[in-house]
Amino acid sequence: LAAPRAHQLTDADVAAHLQPPEPGDDKYSRGVVGVVAGSAVYPGAAVLCTGAALRTRPGLVRYAGTAGDGVRAAWPEAIVTDGRPSDAGRVQAWVAGPGMGTDDDARATLAEVLATDLPVVVDADALTMAAREPDLVRDRRAPTVLTPHDREFARFGVPVGADRIGAARRLAAELGAVVLLKGDATVVAGPDGTAFVNATGTAELATAGTGDVLAGILGALLATGTPPAETAAAAAAHLHGRTGQLASARGPLVASDLVRHLPGAVGLVRGSA
Ligand code: AMP
Ligand code: MG
Repeated sequence: LAAPRAHQLTDADVAAHLQPPEPGDDKYSRGVVGVVAGSAVYPGAAVLCTGAALRTRPGLVRYAGTAGDGVRAAWPEAIVTDGRPSDAGRVQAWVAGPGMGTDDDARATLAEVLATDLPVVVDADALTMAAREPDLVRDRRAPTVLTPHDREFARFGVPVGADRIGAARRLAAELGAVVLLKGDATVVAGPDGTAFVNATGTAELATAGTGDVLAGILGALLATGTPPAETAAAAAAHLHGRTGQLASARGPLVASDLVRHLPGAVGLVRGSA
């Protein structure tokens, strides 16, 4: 049986999920994102991920990791909790993983987030932990989006191989999760086989921290809850790639440049829609 064809989003498709606030909106109706990322060793991952979530413009970003001081210093807009994710207050989607480590405390934090009935982005160190305990993902009823690069993907048991869409579809079906497989050819697959190939991006994105930015963008799109999780994942990859193209137009980029160029990329996507 032939696998269903993969979709490719356009700027217009993505613009539909990046609507500006309406007169009746308030910060809660715009979506509340929760971030657990970073650590004493990697505070930067928390700053990038939180900044990307903020710049994608939900109503509110709550941070509940172990790099609160770094996040406070970088993003006064973020609401920082020094306790556990469950102390953070109401959230509509979680992002977990970048730089959070994989010790017992990180594992407990991840388990707490995955035990909610909210959409969760599982990235980086959270992928390492989820690969050890796939039931943490499999037992969920709310959407989970895994965002591995090829090496992180392989931790789930089978290397990516030549058929990236097939590989993403297989892991998605196995875990009942959306899989966003990153690289120069980023693909997204849902558990039902729905698939997307990303059309944007640049090799300039091959630098530290760009994945943390993608995770933050995706968390913000999931928090608004409008599109299905696989569409949100594909839209996040599209916007991330456009942001990379914009940020690298005048020269080499670092991940912080992506955060700064996000509003411009949103404008570009809306403008060409
Ligand atoms: P990470 O490996 O988690 O830091 O994520 C890297 C990000 O940069 C992902 O969104 C990748 O899709 C993107 N990326 C890395 N290398 C390339 C490349 N050669 N071409 C396009 N995108 C890339
Ligand atoms: Mg990464």
